[in-house]
Amino acid sequence: MDRFLGADFLAEAGLNLQAVFDCAALPEAVLQPMRESGVPVEEYGRLVLLGHGGRRLWNRLQTFGMKTANPVDHYSLAITRQYIERYLNNAPHLILYPLTNFLVPLTQLGELAGWSQPAPIGLGINPTYGVWFAYRVAFLVSDNRSPATDYRLPATDHPCASCADKPCITACPAHAVRPDPQQFDIFTCVRRRLESNSSCADRCLARLACPIAPEHRYSLAQIRYHYGQSLITIREYIEERD
Ligand code: SF4
Ligand code: SF4
Repeated sequence: MDRFLGADFLAEAGLNLQAVFDCAALPEAVLQPMRESGVPVEEYGRLVLLGHGGRRLWNRLQTFGMKTANPVDHYSLAITRQYIERYLNNAPHLILYPLTNFLVPLTQLGELAGWSQPAPIGLGINPTYGVWFAYRVAFLVSDNRSPATDYRLPATDHPCASCADKPCITACPAHAVRPDPQQFDIFTCVRRRLESNSSCADRCLARLACPIAPEHRYSLAQIRYHYGQSLITIREYIEERD
């Protein structure tokens, strides 16, 4: 596996999950939604996916400052732009995620990258960070300045396979979490979260019950921030729809 150019810089800033894909080798299931949303994927050689695992990004963000309406996205993009300037010689690139109208199948890319496997709670699970990771940035870059030709984590055993009790299932008060990840009931979950005085408004009790990688569990402040943001997004979506 080629070394990922500038990996330490990104990891130090909290973007410690990194993958590089050869655009020409991406599966059609990933390419199709991107093409349909106008991503000019054929004009670039590599797709770079960055994520955060654990607490470091949040801690770095406190120093950087929560200065905007989308501080996590703005911080992640600021670091990515510094990275492209310093390590990729400001190569021609196109930011795909976040804060664009492009559709990027992040979950499928995360599974291809070896970061994530489906878990009952409706999120992926990572072998190192458990359920405490997220996708932060995706961009296209010309292949002659790419950070690597191909860079992914090797496949590992599924973390849920060794979790006999599956406490995420019993911890969910709405019974939205089922043993089969495909059966996660997103509508029941959303209804529960929107109830007044919901115990799920600013956290997910099922996610908190997961025993994998507790050392990487987000702080309560970070949990409340992310779930607060997602609740705002859900409410805005419902208002627009109605
Ligand atoms: S947010 Fe609440 S309802 Fe939704 S999966 Fe988590 S525990 Fe269940
Ligand atoms: S509690 Fe167990 S089954 Fe549920 S997500 Fe965590 S590891 Fe997987």
